[in-house]
Amino acid sequence: MNPQCKTYQSQLIDILYDESELTASIQEHLDHCPECDLYWSKLIDTKKQLDQPPLDVEIAYSKIRQATAQGEAIINKRKNRKELGLFVAIAISIFAFIGWLFTQGYQKEIILFQLTSTFVLPIIVPFIAKHRYQKGCDLND
Ligand SMILES: [Zn+2]
Repeated sequence: MNPQCKTYQSQLIDILYDESELTASIQEHLDHCPECDLYWSKLIDTKKQLDQPPLDVEIAYSKIRQATAQGEAIINKRKNRKELGLFVAIAISIFAFIGWLFTQGYQKEIILFQLTSTFVLPIIVPFIAKHRYQKGCDLND
């Protein structure tokens, strides 16, 4: 492309949007340069298409709602898989740690912890539940 054409073509965009006027020199260039003339006619066609009112397109809200629900279901499924994976990893880690403690000679302490948690935790659970319930009430206020 002629470097002069590049300048003319950028001026043509301004002319198209009435920010500049079509001068005699530009018109003369258009008359003698087929490339810029084609560019100018394409610009005019594009502007005509853009100026047309938008087509009346029916929006299928039920389909959009359905697609959104499906997307959310997929996201929830992935989230559940991640949480399950995390749970399994943590459970294996704890089990491995207890196994390691067992091999290190802490059998008595492990049994004591199990007995304590078996008999003490059920007594604590109602207090924890009550505390969480009150916290939930506070959040709802
Ligand atoms: Zn030109």
